[in-house]
Amino acid sequence: MNGDRLEPPRTRNGKQASDRSVFKHRWSRPIAGGGCACGQVRYKIVGEPLFTYACHCTDCQRTTGSAFVIHTVIAKDDLEIEGETKATTLPTGSGAGYDPHFCTNCGTFIWCKYHISAKGAIVIRSGTLDDTTLVKPQAHIFTRYKLPWMTLPTDVPVFEEYYDRQEVWPEKSFEKWTELVNKND
Ligand SMILES: [Zn+2]
Ligand SMILES: [Zn+2]
Repeated sequence: MNGDRLEPPRTRNGKQASDRSVFKHRWSRPIAGGGCACGQVRYKIVGEPLFTYACHCTDCQRTTGSAFVIHTVIAKDDLEIEGETKATTLPTGSGAGYDPHFCTNCGTFIWCKYHISAKGAIVIRSGTLDDTTLVKPQAHIFTRYKLPWMTLPTDVPVFEEYYDRQEVWPEKSFEKWTELVNKND
């Protein structure tokens, strides 16, 4: 990206005046910035995200080292990324597997591609956004594995295992998803 280097903001939450301009048009282009812990990898999301969910499965607990992950589904074409990343393949409950992409320097898990997912869609680890308040889980899934001390919100749908996108996602997001199902990179 010429002359448009994705500089890390000075604070993680983008509260300083210099960062406000990036976020003042919420959900318009560019929608959000993010990056890894060391700053080597920076990215922008340039199209409206499709859906954000919290996953409580044990794979997500392990790869975050925490209680659950927050994932934001976007079109692959809407990710502009720079810096060096490395991918590997890990198993999923479905057996299909997925490819997480990490910063080659600090190992931050930035985004991933589920093999079973729509070809043109990827998932951003929402905790890598500069302003993590930009997204909020619209569903909690695989809650049968949820840690017992964790209290779930009552204002969003909760699923013991997986869920039906068509039922749960906003209509516009699901339409976009169906466009992406057979879209190759
Ligand atoms: Zn890094
Ligand atoms: Zn999970």
